[in-house]
Amino acid sequence: MLDRCFESRRVRQIQRAFRHGKVTLLCLVMTIVVLRGTIGAGKFGTPEQDLNEIREHFYSRKRVEPHRVLEEAQTTTESTESNNYATFDLSKLLVDEEGDDEKPDPNKPYSLGPRISDWDEQRADWLKKNPNFPNFIRPNKPRVLLVTGSSPKPCENPVGDHYLLKSIKNKIDYCRLHGIEIFYNMALLDAEMAGFWAKLPLIRKLLLSHPEIEFLWWMDSDAMFTDMAFEVPWDRYKDHNFVMHGWNEMVYDDKNWIGLNTGSFLLRNGQWALDMLDAWAPMGPKGKIRTEAGKILTRELKDRPVFEADDQSAMVYILATQREKWGDKVYLESAYYLHGYWGILVDRYEEMIENYHPGLGDHRWPLVTHFVGCKPCGKFGDYPVERCLKQMDRAYNFGDNQILQIYGFTHKSLGSRRVKRIRNETGNPLEVKDELGLLHPAFKAVKVSSS
Ligand code: UDP
Ligand code: MN
Repeated sequence: MLDRCFESRRVRQIQRAFRHGKVTLLCLVMTIVVLRGTIGAGKFGTPEQDLNEIREHFYSRKRVEPHRVLEEAQTTTESTESNNYATFDLSKLLVDEEGDDEKPDPNKPYSLGPRISDWDEQRADWLKKNPNFPNFIRPNKPRVLLVTGSSPKPCENPVGDHYLLKSIKNKIDYCRLHGIEIFYNMALLDAEMAGFWAKLPLIRKLLLSHPEIEFLWWMDSDAMFTDMAFEVPWDRYKDHNFVMHGWNEMVYDDKNWIGLNTGSFLLRNGQWALDMLDAWAPMGPKGKIRTEAGKILTRELKDRPVFEADDQSAMVYILATQREKWGDKVYLESAYYLHGYWGILVDRYEEMIENYHPGLGDHRWPLVTHFVGCKPCGKFGDYPVERCLKQMDRAYNFGDNQILQIYGFTHKSLGSRRVKRIRNETGNPLEVKDELGLLHPAFKAVKVSSS
């Protein structure tokens, strides 16, 4: 009984050994198949050729590679210690020269540049001489330049740079669909105006360099288009020079520092814009001026926390204190979300998808979702990082679904990076009509002038 038991155990052992042998053999065959696949034996490779190539592959790898690496190591003084990008510390490479900046004269008031008072004439003259660069693409369709940007330095956490990439991808999509040009700035043009003030010298430079631009659209890097189909009602602003999201009562009556938002606005190219920029800039220079101005703004404006002067509070202050000078050319828009505060929008995306459709631009389908206070590129924000990043992904996907649907795809969910098909491929691609008509939208059409 015991013997039989041992015997059957031996038989099982032999069977197991044989099975292992089979697995080993299978592994060997697989290895050769894979090696053959990666190395490639040419179309008419014979087993001998395969073997030669395998031998050559290993031989050359062994002999040539270290030789080349050695040569490279000898010709450069930099360390070639690691090929690992995941652990490389970028701060080793970045050099920021200090000390050779022009120092501002503390006795001179800050200025964005030489005084220009005849810009309307200069520009009109240029437009007349350059009929190939008209400031209107069609009647009621101004030539628009969308301007955005971020700090010259990498973000505090590389994930911030990933969100900057998503954000510019989102803007490129909207601009392509709407025939809008785009400019991304990463240079600090004026060291005095670092941070949220950096947009002022940049905007001035672009207006003066591009007289063909009728409207400049500033948009923060932390704002994303969530309605790809909404076209700005340009006609509504024909008598205005500056369009911001906001409410007249909150700005002019309450002097509330969030009565308007400067994260997404339209500014018409002209003398008025230059004058406005000059009026806007004096609280910007960093250091004492910005800190002292911050105290005035906190004192004068409703609900403003204590912090240095920011461009948004400065704008509320200018409009509230000098309404007669600027008010008639400023349009505070609240009929759609030229800027939309993310906190009140992001939890409603599913409800919007359920009940509405792109093209509305307002609370039903917001044109812009702006992640005010999230600071994904900085060290600290005003909200929990997890909520910010999760909701930025959702906003991105919400907008991106409108792009993907043009090509027959959609994100699996608002929280998913993966996509799925929403229609079958066809042999007649030109007969496919996308639901929103975004493939060839009327607002993008260019009318070629018959000359
Ligand atoms: N910005 C820039 N360069 C910088 C820092 C900021 O161009 O060095 C831009 C960037 O587009 C950013 C905007 O300034 O979105 C305003 O800052 P932020 O959005 O962080 O302010 P918030 O909207 O949270 O008040
Ligand atoms: Mn912002």
